[in-house]
Amino acid sequence: MRYQVLVVEDTAVNMKLISMLLDKAGYRVLQTGNASDGIALAREHRPDLILMDIQLPGMDGLTATRLLKEDEKTRHIRIIALTAFAMKGDEERMIAAGCDGYIAKPIRYRHFLAEVEKHLLANATERNAGHEQK
Ligand code: MN
Repeated sequence: MRYQVLVVEDTAVNMKLISMLLDKAGYRVLQTGNASDGIALAREHRPDLILMDIQLPGMDGLTATRLLKEDEKTRHIRIIALTAFAMKGDEERMIAAGCDGYIAKPIRYRHFLAEVEKHLLANATERNAGHEQK
């Protein structure tokens, strides 16, 4: 079964690049440019991973992450924040919101795919071990 990754990103050029990289790596990609659609898609499709842009029009990515992590149906889904700013304090804010990791933009291809793979494998390991999911 191919992994499904939900990408929430409002900048078209970033979305195009990210989707292309994921597609070439063999993942199925769900796309949206805003947080509320992202939440709806996550609830409906239960993707294996979510890549969440922080700066979005309307609801921001950290608020969306918090809502997804509060919801019994979606709290187990790992969320990687996509951020153009990774300054001191930002990492703490992302962790506090419930993000499982973050990737700084601009995206470096190999690093990006390695991070995605790392989180998908961690998911699989948790499931196999039969651990209570976060
Ligand atoms: Mn953005």
